[in-house]
Amino acid sequence: MTMDTFTIGFPRMGPHRELKFALEKFWKGALSEAELLAAAARVEEEAWRRQRAAGVQRVGLDGTLYDQVLDTIAWTGTCPPRFQHLSGLSRYFAMARGAPSAPALDMSKFFSTNYHCLIPEPEAAPGGTPAAPELGPLLERLERGQRALGAEAAVPMVVGPVTFALLARSSPLPPHEAVARLLPAYCLLLRELAQRRVPELQLHEPALATSQAAEPGVRQAFEAAYAELAKAGVPLNLVVPYADLDEQVYPWAVRLPVATLTLDFLGGGAGDCACTGANRTLALITAHGFPHAERRLGAGVVDGRSVWADRDGTAASILRALLHLGIPPSRLAVTSSVSLQHLPYDTALEGTHMPARLEGRLAFAVQKLDEIVAAAATTPNGGAAAAGGQRAAAAEVDGSAAAAVAALRALGPAAYARSLPFGERRGLQLQTHAFPTTTIGSFPQTLEVRRLRQKLKAGTLSRAEYEAAVSGHIAHCVGIQEGLGIDVLVHGEAERTDMVEYFGEKLGGMWFSAAGWVQSYGSRCVRPPVIEGDIAWQGPMTTWEYKVAQSFTSRPVKGMLTGPVTILNWSFPRKDVSREAQAAQLAAALRAEVAALEAEGCRIIQVDEPALREGLPLKRCLWAPYLAWAVDAFRLATAVAAPGTQVVTHLCYSDFEDILPAIDAMDADVLTIENARSGDAMIKALVGSSYGRDVGPGVYDVHSPEVPSVEFIRSRIRMFMASGVAGGRADRVWVNPDCGLKTRGWAETLASLRNMVEAAAAERVAA
Ligand code: GLN
Ligand code: ZN
Repeated sequence: MTMDTFTIGFPRMGPHRELKFALEKFWKGALSEAELLAAAARVEEEAWRRQRAAGVQRVGLDGTLYDQVLDTIAWTGTCPPRFQHLSGLSRYFAMARGAPSAPALDMSKFFSTNYHCLIPEPEAAPGGTPAAPELGPLLERLERGQRALGAEAAVPMVVGPVTFALLARSSPLPPHEAVARLLPAYCLLLRELAQRRVPELQLHEPALATSQAAEPGVRQAFEAAYAELAKAGVPLNLVVPYADLDEQVYPWAVRLPVATLTLDFLGGGAGDCACTGANRTLALITAHGFPHAERRLGAGVVDGRSVWADRDGTAASILRALLHLGIPPSRLAVTSSVSLQHLPYDTALEGTHMPARLEGRLAFAVQKLDEIVAAAATTPNGGAAAAGGQRAAAAEVDGSAAAAVAALRALGPAAYARSLPFGERRGLQLQTHAFPTTTIGSFPQTLEVRRLRQKLKAGTLSRAEYEAAVSGHIAHCVGIQEGLGIDVLVHGEAERTDMVEYFGEKLGGMWFSAAGWVQSYGSRCVRPPVIEGDIAWQGPMTTWEYKVAQSFTSRPVKGMLTGPVTILNWSFPRKDVSREAQAAQLAAALRAEVAALEAEGCRIIQVDEPALREGLPLKRCLWAPYLAWAVDAFRLATAVAAPGTQVVTHLCYSDFEDILPAIDAMDADVLTIENARSGDAMIKALVGSSYGRDVGPGVYDVHSPEVPSVEFIRSRIRMFMASGVAGGRADRVWVNPDCGLKTRGWAETLASLRNMVEAAAAERVAA
């Protein structure tokens, strides 16, 4: 007997990123609202049809114009008051991107993924209670889904109320009260759905898999909310992706009154590689049983986080174990471990770009559908997906686990420590004046810059012509920074499509897809490389740009590298070696690059680790081991620098207050960190700690097209000084934007930086 199948999410941008391009045109005013909505509908419907065509029985009606959490803010009526004067799509996009006098919502990574969601502020709704829910877009999507697939196959999906409430970190309310305020909106939705013949509603509750779920208040919130939601009579599918449940949470979570409980059988903590072999969800079910008479088990057994095909039959073996535990196939339904939105669309889009050695070894979202359908045929003693003869994943990789681990062991403890402690080396490094100014690295990536790289790739531009053109961009960028009066300059990163690809292509051991785009936030997509073998430094990667930039100026130019942990966390890792060993290999390679930059005279080297936090497991108890090897990797990459060389790091996209000891342990001389969208939490944490090195908290948000005023930036600098960060030493408080400027246009960049330099100068005089 074949088990049922369903999906819990799919790539949302379309096979050719159609939605991205439609959004960007719309924002530029080149597409009408109706045209945008039509483009989005085409992308959604194509995705749903593909899922159905693959044989999936129930399709989760994924789709959003920007972010599913933003959608939830919109439909639950919890739009903050500063956006209330707007309506419809202008309000929707203002919440995401900011509007004059209404700064955008905070953004943060979504659980243990590289996807970024917007952070709700439901308590800010007028009177503290949500406004009237706006179900229109949700119901319209459902109608389209039912038309495309038939009512039986079309399953609406929303972010669950507890997860939504807990995402609003600033909420002063206890969880059950925060959730209670949202429930009327969810109940209204359920009443509407009850009249529309939906087979079920998917409620996505990753919060149930976090350590927070073990707090009594959160349990109370879940139990009260689901008791209420169950009354509507619509079958609920409670979907819990991104990790396994906590030992204490599992026993009560499986008793929540839902029709289906969908669990992640491959999470085991932040994409830890399969080589740990631990399947904690299966262990929980073995230990505590699963009440299958009352509810179905949605088995997330197809790996929605890995691009590697399931050639060793992992999905089938988990399903067989469940069958052996006595769960009848009729009470099991097969799906992916997490939404497939985190994978590229389809390996077929690679065409001839796919090397023969990877043929059949990779599975993107479309291929995962086949894995779901195939796994559903598993029987207790075999089944299609479990056919013998598969090679183990370990044999699939070029390179050896032993080599990776040996590289790590060969270097002694001295390789991880700078030769002098900060207190002694800081005096040997660059000294400027109060409030030194700098930027984070990239400058606007104009169409012209992108065309240049495309032409080189296509072979219509020779290497020499390309280098001449890039040198021109570097000269332009350096000239602008000199003209503005910035103290520490950058070369502008015109040669980089993104901060991982540039290095990955030069390191080897990584494969870059042609069409493997994954949504990062809003319309932004990234193309994470696949680590397919051993990583090694093959020669200088960034010294040419450094030398070109430095040749145009007497001011110091920063070398600009992406850190080992970020390269790893923004790639699809190998499955045969631990992430720790892969990070160490990357670190050893970057260490060679740091040395190469120094050899060319570079005295300030920035090693970006924006993704440091993204690798954190959802479970707090797993944080320490991750942070230990992540910090080690950063130190291995940078400790080779002479004491007089200033090592800078940059962190963004997250809150970092809770990993401050690890940031301290990185031992960077300067910490530039995103701050504008995080409500100064980082400043407070730094001040409350013993962190004593230079800091550059971002003075304005680069994700918003608004130009910050001089007065605004001055007030930021004054706030930093008043707080006492960097020991209250003005020469150690750096003034820089929140992040790189590559997504911005030149006009706003120039205006913003001009104001930034002016603000720093004014405060310098005042100091
Ligand atoms: N140096 C990079 C840039 O400026 C850093 C980007 C990032 O932190 N995401 O683009
Ligand atoms: Zn950044």
